[in-house]
Amino acid sequence: MAEAIDTNVAVVGAGPAGLAAALALACNASVAVIGPAPQAANKSVDTRTAALLESSVDLLKALGVFDELRPHAAPLKAIRIIDASGSLLRAPDLEFRASELGLEAFGYNIANSALIEVLYAKAASVLPALQPANVGRIELLQTRAVLIGDGVWRIAAGLVVGADGLNSICRKAAGIPVSEQRFDQIAIATSFTHCAPHEGVSIELHQRGGSITTVPLTEPYASSVIWIDRTDEIQRIMRLDAASFERELQDRLGGMLGHVRAVGACSQFPIARLAAESLVGRRTALVGEAAHILPPIGAQGLNLGLRDAATLADCVSVALKRGRDPGGGDVLAAYDRARRVDVLTRTYGVDLLSRSLLSGFLPLLVARGIVTYGLNALPPLRRLAMRIGMLPPTELPSLMRPRAH
Ligand SMILES: Cc1cc2nc3c(=O)[nH]c(=O)nc-3n(C[C@H](O)[C@H](O)[C@H](O)COP(=O)(O)OP(=O)(O)OC[C@H]3O[C@@H](n4cnc5c(N)ncnc54)[C@H](O)[C@@H]3O)c2cc1C
Repeated sequence: MAEAIDTNVAVVGAGPAGLAAALALACNASVAVIGPAPQAANKSVDTRTAALLESSVDLLKALGVFDELRPHAAPLKAIRIIDASGSLLRAPDLEFRASELGLEAFGYNIANSALIEVLYAKAASVLPALQPANVGRIELLQTRAVLIGDGVWRIAAGLVVGADGLNSICRKAAGIPVSEQRFDQIAIATSFTHCAPHEGVSIELHQRGGSITTVPLTEPYASSVIWIDRTDEIQRIMRLDAASFERELQDRLGGMLGHVRAVGACSQFPIARLAAESLVGRRTALVGEAAHILPPIGAQGLNLGLRDAATLADCVSVALKRGRDPGGGDVLAAYDRARRVDVLTRTYGVDLLSRSLLSGFLPLLVARGIVTYGLNALPPLRRLAMRIGMLPPTELPSLMRPRAH
């Protein structure tokens, strides 16, 4: 067996949440990261982009990776929400502009593939213990955790960070139960070019079977799209040839971005909700999709995962400065407490929004209409809604606080 590594923290999973957590934790702790390198992890390229809000961008800046991501990052200046559900009570259109909050942009839209590649390269350059492999087994002992992979390496750590996504073996090893729900919907993630410029505006079109959200890319005539609909409808759309797919997307968008052309590679994501009953277990803290999966509406998923990462880094940093065990019960309890409200409100808020968009229930449609009228008519209410969408209900972790750059 190769030489064993002993470290403060072992992060399992080299996705965006795991890599951000590892880099944030490494500010004050010794950290090992274990997870397949980006090319190996993504057998087919990840076609998703992530709209990252201001605090997530501040984290990327603090981790020293945003300059490299800048050429891949498209500013998100406004969000337009349109009710195209065809219901009796059509809610009025709604537009949120970052300038109303005195901001140039709500955040930036960045391709997942670029984000992971840049974070992985940074982790490879600053973290000596980066193991491009899968963890096969985890033993959670009284005083240490031991991670074992394919019999040739072994890592001992005070704390295991489970950033290993949907089927997290860290979550299973710690015996953390989940509540999970699958919906009869699939999301297509792709990108396309169009004849009218996006002008930094994301369009969220609420239809009966799901929403279609376009998000600006760096080119003025290119956007990414998350197209959610019922499973049978997405299966039909995926069988269309390229020209018919483009026509269908253009029709659904009602010509808002002009003629649609050149749709890129598509991937499909079944719509699900997963919530771990706790973010912690023995010597284990969960971050990102290992802890919570939301339907991809309202750009919350990875923003939430990055807030997990930065908050955990704060908790571990305080513990180490006081000479405490980073995987001790008090540190884990502090992390769980710090993240609970944000995770619960986002998980159930997005779930409620997703269900309300599918509902034809008249009182719900009336309520939605009233809220939309109120938001349109009252700028202070609109600004409050924007702040709630962008910021957690609790204090921002230190690496996410704006600083002079
Ligand atoms: C269509 C779509 C659009 C989205 N758009 C947005 C958006 O605009 N904004 C936003 O904030 N969020 C968005 N999200 C959510 C966002 O994409 C996810 O939250 C994010 O990609 C999850 O990252 P993660 O690191 O938590 O998990 P993952 O990306 O799943 O990473 C987990 C990693 O763990 C590794 N792993 C698994 N098992 C092991 C093991 N045994 N050993 C070692 N490594 C292991 C995997 O190889 C993988 O690299 C969207 C999601 C979808 C589906």
